[in-house]
Amino acid sequence: MEKICGCGSKMTMRLRSLVFAKKVSILNVPVMNCTKCRHSEVLADCAQPLITLLRGLGSQPAEQHIWYNEVHELAYILYEASKAKKQNRSMHDIAKDRINQLLDLLLLSRALGDHAWVTDIEARLAQISQAECVYNNVISNN
Ligand SMILES: [Zn+2]
Repeated sequence: MEKICGCGSKMTMRLRSLVFAKKVSILNVPVMNCTKCRHSEVLADCAQPLITLLRGLGSQPAEQHIWYNEVHELAYILYEASKAKKQNRSMHDIAKDRINQLLDLLLLSRALGDHAWVTDIEARLAQISQAECVYNNVISNN
């Protein structure tokens, strides 16, 4: 995954740990880094959900670790892709598997009438569909 920085150089994606309020470690956050000027920013699709997550922690958060790949589906797919590199699995395949898995869970949660669960899964599916342009970019870049 590549993007061009304001300085004109290439940016590359890394999964990084961010520390919030010196207490909360957020792991596997997709961050774009410039190889030249060292500018870095959270991947656009993940930025707003991350802000919402941090706001939800309040001003006095307890010491904790949050795995962002369990919070946001794009981070999940990027994390799985980083593990799967050696196995020749594309991000597209990983995303497809994840969508099928979530659709199964959606059927199950609806059958159980668990509305909170249904809402959570629908939100996760939306995160994937909103990031679709990113996958297309990744596929064409590779
Ligand atoms: Zn730069």
